[in-house]
Amino acid sequence: MRGLESNPLLLKEVIKSQVEGKVGHEGRMRAASDWHARRKPIGCGLTIHPGIGCPLQCAYCYIYDMGFEAYATPYSLSGDQLTLALLYNRYFVPGPWGTYLAFGSVTEPLLPNIAGKTLEYMKSIALNLGNPCQVATKIPASDDLLDRIKSIRGLRLSILVTITSLRKYRALEEKASEPMERFEFIRRVRRKGFKPFLFWRPFLPGLPLEEIEEMVCEAKRSGAYGVVVGGLRLSHNIVKRLVGRGMDLRLLKSIVDLDRLKKGFVDVKIGDKEVEEVRSLVTAKGMIFLRRACCANTASQVLEGFEDAICPSLCFLSKRACDPSCPSKCYNKALRYPHHVDVESVVSYVLRTKSFHIEQQGVTLVVETSKRTCDVKWASSVLTQVLRRKVVFKLH
Ligand code: SF4
Ligand code: SF4
Repeated sequence: MRGLESNPLLLKEVIKSQVEGKVGHEGRMRAASDWHARRKPIGCGLTIHPGIGCPLQCAYCYIYDMGFEAYATPYSLSGDQLTLALLYNRYFVPGPWGTYLAFGSVTEPLLPNIAGKTLEYMKSIALNLGNPCQVATKIPASDDLLDRIKSIRGLRLSILVTITSLRKYRALEEKASEPMERFEFIRRVRRKGFKPFLFWRPFLPGLPLEEIEEMVCEAKRSGAYGVVVGGLRLSHNIVKRLVGRGMDLRLLKSIVDLDRLKKGFVDVKIGDKEVEEVRSLVTAKGMIFLRRACCANTASQVLEGFEDAICPSLCFLSKRACDPSCPSKCYNKALRYPHHVDVESVVSYVLRTKSFHIEQQGVTLVVETSKRTCDVKWASSVLTQVLRRKVVFKLH
């Protein structure tokens, strides 16, 4: 493999100077000082904020504890400034084999006053970078908006539609659309050619089995390719809101030590029994069951025909995280030596030396070198993303 395409890190330098030329001095300053230039990727990828704050005020939402407002403001950067901020981020890798980009996180990305910014960011990312993107939403957007998203050339987009409960939604998501409208939205999303998944996050403790069965049936009926489940994040305020809206305090006490909440957030994992219940119902209906949003992004790409896609978070290293119903089979793909990039060129760029030896051991690439890497965390994060393999350094 030759040329810049074979080394996304070299390509990053070239794209950066091109985009710098487009945004001017002030745009460069704004991009350099923005959080998108500094955040590290988390499980679902690097979070993209097309807005901040949210008026929907779901009872379980943690953004208000983080200081965000109950109204949404479009983010101040333009599309190209956002792209440049990402290119200034040392953890970010551009391209289809680069960092996953997850829209939302501190807002609802398809809110009427935020959707324009979301579109603007998607356009600039697709044009300049080509990274796989993901949007998680509970807004049943119009067909017109879906058409505009679909028409963005080169955009790889995974769409997750969040639904948490069929019976308690009024108490939990007072200002969001009704779940059946969201299922109808999944149907429309699929009709437009996307590969939608039901995002069942947070999966609330104590949901009765009949409701779980109903949710899975509706997901199947709506045409969702699969279901992604995720846990609940609790804070002192969230517990107060949940209890105020009818959740059983004894149930919460039985799963989490409420005294620990005074110190911040506690992530409540879904019980093994519930996970297995949902998993068996989902897979029995021929759908894909996933535990992580990044896997839905990867699976969507595979369903779109990008069969080589491998999850950059390396979820396949954990049997618990990686489900056999997923069509991606990342582990098997990772057993092969990477051919999507020039491995030697990428490793040499990161280590700043040509003196190393690479040996593949299963899904791990062992990089033997005499040069001590000055920032092992950065080197390993970047190489893991680019190579889609576990990378281990060995000094000799
Ligand atoms: S829609 Fe999302 S961001 Fe808005 S309140 Fe609900 S969970 Fe929070
Ligand atoms: S094969 Fe495993 S790691 Fe890969 S996307 Fe599917 S669940 Fe995730």
